[in-house]
Amino acid sequence: MPSRLSARREKTSDAMLGRRYQLFRFSGIPIRVDLSWFLVATLVTWSLTGYFDQRLPELSPWIHGTMGLAGALGLFVSVLLHELAHAVVARRYGMPIRGITLFVFGGVAEMETEPPGPAAEFGVAIAGPIASFAVAVACLSLWAGGGSSGPWSTPTVAVAGYLTGVNTLLAVFNLVPAFPLDGGRVLRSVLWQWRGDLHWATRFCSRLGITFGLAMILLGTLRLLDPQSRMGGLWMIFIGLFLRWAAKASYHHLLVRSGLEGEPVSRFMRREPVTVPRFLSVANLVDDYVRRYQHRVFPVVDNERLIGSVSTARVQQLPREEWTRQSVGALVEPLTLDNTVAPDTDALEALTRMSRSRLPLLMVVDKGKLVGVLGFGDFDRGLAAAIAAAPGGAAAGTSPDS
Ligand SMILES: [Zn+2]
Repeated sequence: MPSRLSARREKTSDAMLGRRYQLFRFSGIPIRVDLSWFLVATLVTWSLTGYFDQRLPELSPWIHGTMGLAGALGLFVSVLLHELAHAVVARRYGMPIRGITLFVFGGVAEMETEPPGPAAEFGVAIAGPIASFAVAVACLSLWAGGGSSGPWSTPTVAVAGYLTGVNTLLAVFNLVPAFPLDGGRVLRSVLWQWRGDLHWATRFCSRLGITFGLAMILLGTLRLLDPQSRMGGLWMIFIGLFLRWAAKASYHHLLVRSGLEGEPVSRFMRREPVTVPRFLSVANLVDDYVRRYQHRVFPVVDNERLIGSVSTARVQQLPREEWTRQSVGALVEPLTLDNTVAPDTDALEALTRMSRSRLPLLMVVDKGKLVGVLGFGDFDRGLAAAIAAAPGGAAAGTSPDS
């Protein structure tokens, strides 16, 4: 168990991914790309163009470039098909899909809920590698049917050959039993079925994942010594680091879920929070409250009645000369369904809402009265005790593929 639990990292995929752009929807599933994917697409196009130039020097540079582009596009479609297979099977088991995102290390099918049981986990996990194997076989038959006598042109056959290799690698690498890779999930589902203990199965498989990540880092470091394979070595180190992080994050995610799910927010909230009167000047807010308590958000009251909150971010937007002239009331953000919760709200739901809306503070309101506040740190503090007392529960909802 990690010594310090950070509820902030609850959403594995949100932490892993930066800016995302939606490209299109496939049968209702949003397909997005992370900014980092464009870097990979450019690198793949560039290196494939060079590769085809060496292998088929009789073709023109234009054709090499087109082949490089087609290869990169094929890689995109290959990863997408792999993730779609996960998503389609997940949906058959009644798990809603938030979307598919492609990023530097491959793709992620983001699932909103956890697999309901070992059978569902097994089916969802194995679907991706099966899809990749199927695409590899299709590309292989295209490649084998080509050649000088076949119906396909030399460039088509060469790109099909590359995609055969890529899809085989996608299937094989993901089947390594290192959680959270697909193979690790398959193993976890088997162990889960065997012992009936998801917590134990996840811990076991995460440790394998962490060890495998370390092995990749060591191997990558060895390859750095050989100038010929320096790039490959560096890449292995990055993937190893990513895998270690993903394995730890997935296990942590499980701990957070099992500690929060089914618990009311009133267990975690800070009671008797510091409130700010509406008619206080912004200058006094900064001097008497922000400097003293170091909070980023304060609930605002009007004669004991809660009317909203004020954040240091809003204060910073106001020109300094206005601080003495304006009152807190001018900067108040009203109460919404996003920034307030009832005391009996499920703690996991509250944390999910906070992560999604990126609000630093939730106000806990009972019959119009402020009874407490909740920041990420409050979940952190409350979790350590709760998790130690009650292990078990559900698992990580994302499946990163490399
Ligand atoms: Zn996969």
